[in-house]
Amino acid sequence: MIITSHYVLKYDEERQAIRVLSFEAQSCPSCGGQLSGYDTRQRHVIDGAGLARWYLCRRLRCRSCGSLHVELPDFMTARRHYEADVIQQARAGDPAGSCPADDSTIRRWKK
Ligand SMILES: [Zn+2]
Repeated sequence: MIITSHYVLKYDEERQAIRVLSFEAQSCPSCGGQLSGYDTRQRHVIDGAGLARWYLCRRLRCRSCGSLHVELPDFMTARRHYEADVIQQARAGDPAGSCPADDSTIRRWKK
C-alpha cells in the first residue's frame, strides 16, 4: 500500500465511482523499483456524515520484483472503511459525538 497526497478526484460516469488521479511517481516500498500502472481497485469510504462513496484506486506493479501495491489517497486508511479524519477525531475523543461508526468500532480504533 502506498499513500499519495498529490491527486485529483474525478467522477467516472461509466463505473459510477470517483477516480483518484495521482500526480506522484511512486517507487516500490519493497525494493525501490519503478512502478507502472496495472489496474484499478474499487474501494468505498464512509465520511463523517455516514455517507459511503466509491473510489477507483490505482494498483501499481513493480517492474523489478513484480509485487502489486494499491495507491490510496491520504484521506483513506489501510484496512479501514472510514475517512482518516473521522478515525482520528474519534480516537482523540471528539466531544461532538458526530462519528457515524458504532461504539464498538470506535473502542477498537482507540486500542
Ligand atoms: Zn519491487
